[in-house]
Amino acid sequence: MMHKPQKPSLEILKRYYQEVFQPDQLVSLIGLADFRHREFGFLLSDNIFIRNISFRSPSAIKNFMSTRVPLQASIGAVYDKPPSKDNPIQKLEWKYRELVFDIDLNEYDAVRTCGCAGSDTYCIECWSLIDDAMLLLDDTMRNDFGFNQLTWLYSGRRGVHLWIFDDTAKFLNQDVRTAIINYLSMIRGDEYIEPLPGYAKLFVTRLVEILATSYVQYASLEELQAQGFQKNEARTLKDGVTTKRFTRERFARSLPRDVDPKKFLQQAIRMRYPRIDRSVTIDTRHLLRIVGTIHSKTGKMCTIIKDITHFAPEMVPTVWELLQ
Ligand SMILES: [Zn+2]
Repeated sequence: MMHKPQKPSLEILKRYYQEVFQPDQLVSLIGLADFRHREFGFLLSDNIFIRNISFRSPSAIKNFMSTRVPLQASIGAVYDKPPSKDNPIQKLEWKYRELVFDIDLNEYDAVRTCGCAGSDTYCIECWSLIDDAMLLLDDTMRNDFGFNQLTWLYSGRRGVHLWIFDDTAKFLNQDVRTAIINYLSMIRGDEYIEPLPGYAKLFVTRLVEILATSYVQYASLEELQAQGFQKNEARTLKDGVTTKRFTRERFARSLPRDVDPKKFLQQAIRMRYPRIDRSVTIDTRHLLRIVGTIHSKTGKMCTIIKDITHFAPEMVPTVWELLQ
């Protein structure tokens, strides 16, 4: 099943921001303490992008949204003074910014074997790439880095954002964020690259459990045959993962002698490893979409993902449904 988005009119967006939108979810995430010192940015309805905007209170954002009706609303870092035209962020002292990750389905085009391509179509099969990315990154951030205040957002189109609110994450400078991104880098473009030395053992376990399982689940018999399986072996392997994910032990046991487990895992990584946008994580002034706002190309709301193991974009209401 393919999903083709529909574009809401400005009139519809305006009604949404006047009648439905509340900044309470945003406040529950970022808090009120530094609210006035937070940078916001907007793509206005005449396609002009403005940033260096700050608000005195959440109700001031509500007011802005319902009068200006921006096509896109984003949030950035916290500074020592409220950002404004006269006090642009370049002049201000950067205080902190949550650690964020951006994963988008259009970065996967080369490995989407389901037939979907481009930015506006996806199916359950290609969304499973995003599911894997969320599982892998969530587990890595909690277990390898010890963060525990994680929130996942659906962007409203074909991507997800991870926000990490731990104090130990918020104040990290660009160098440390770059090091974290490098730790996570196992592909460059669509090619496998050898990980950094001293790689956590945990990491290999989750590569097998998450990526190798899904790879076998979604690969065609022909693709598995190209990796050295006989047709019946490929079928048995696929049957085996439909009910239970691989463990490291079962993975090693499940492969026939002609298939090198290391090479096979590398292929799973190449095909399914999270395509993380490096610059979004590294750039501590980057702006990201505000929860509760509407994606102007799809009419879908940017939404908190409550359970990353059971999420599909179809669960997210559209602006038309929200206005009913
Ligand atoms: Zn697809």
